[in-house]
Amino acid sequence: MVVDMVNDFVTGKLGNSLAQGVVPRLKAFLERARSRDLPVVYVCDAHLPDDPELRVWGEHSMKDTEGAEIVDELEPEAGDMVFEKRAFDAFQNPDLDVELKKRGIEELIMTGVATNICVQNTAADASFKGYRITVVEDCTAAPTEEEHRQGLKYMKSIYGAKVISSNEAL
Ligand code: ZN
Repeated sequence: MVVDMVNDFVTGKLGNSLAQGVVPRLKAFLERARSRDLPVVYVCDAHLPDDPELRVWGEHSMKDTEGAEIVDELEPEAGDMVFEKRAFDAFQNPDLDVELKKRGIEELIMTGVATNICVQNTAADASFKGYRITVVEDCTAAPTEEEHRQGLKYMKSIYGAKVISSNEAL
C-alpha cells in the first residue's frame, strides 16, 4: 500500500526532503513487489472543499488538481489499484476494504507519507478491520525524523505492526 505519494506531499505545498528521499527506494521496492505478483494499491488524498481536515491543514491535494496526482516516478502500472480518500484514514473510502477483501488480502505492507498521520491512521483502521500490518521503515517518511520514529513506535506498540526495512520485506 502506497499512501499519499502525490505531488502536494512530496514536492508541493506539504512536501519535504524526507518524503522526496523515499521516492527512489519506494520505486525500487514497488518494482520488486510487482515482479513477485504482490498487489499494489495506492491510496491518495483527493479532497473536496468541505472536507473537515482542511480546517487544520488548509487546502492540499484537492481532487482533480496537479497536487493530487501521484508523483511521476511512482506512476501506477497496469493492474495496480488506486483509491481516492478524503481523510487521513484511507478506509473512510469503503470501496478500499471491499476490494482488498475480494482479493483475499489479509496483510498490508505499508509505505508512503506521512508515517505519523495518514500511514498511522490508515494502519489503525486496517488493524480494527483485521488486517495484519507491516510498515516499511525506509519507504515511509514524515516531515521530521522524530515524527517518523513516533509513528513507527506507535504502530508497533499499539497495532502490533511489524516494522522492517524494504530489503527485509522482500
Ligand atoms: Zn489530506
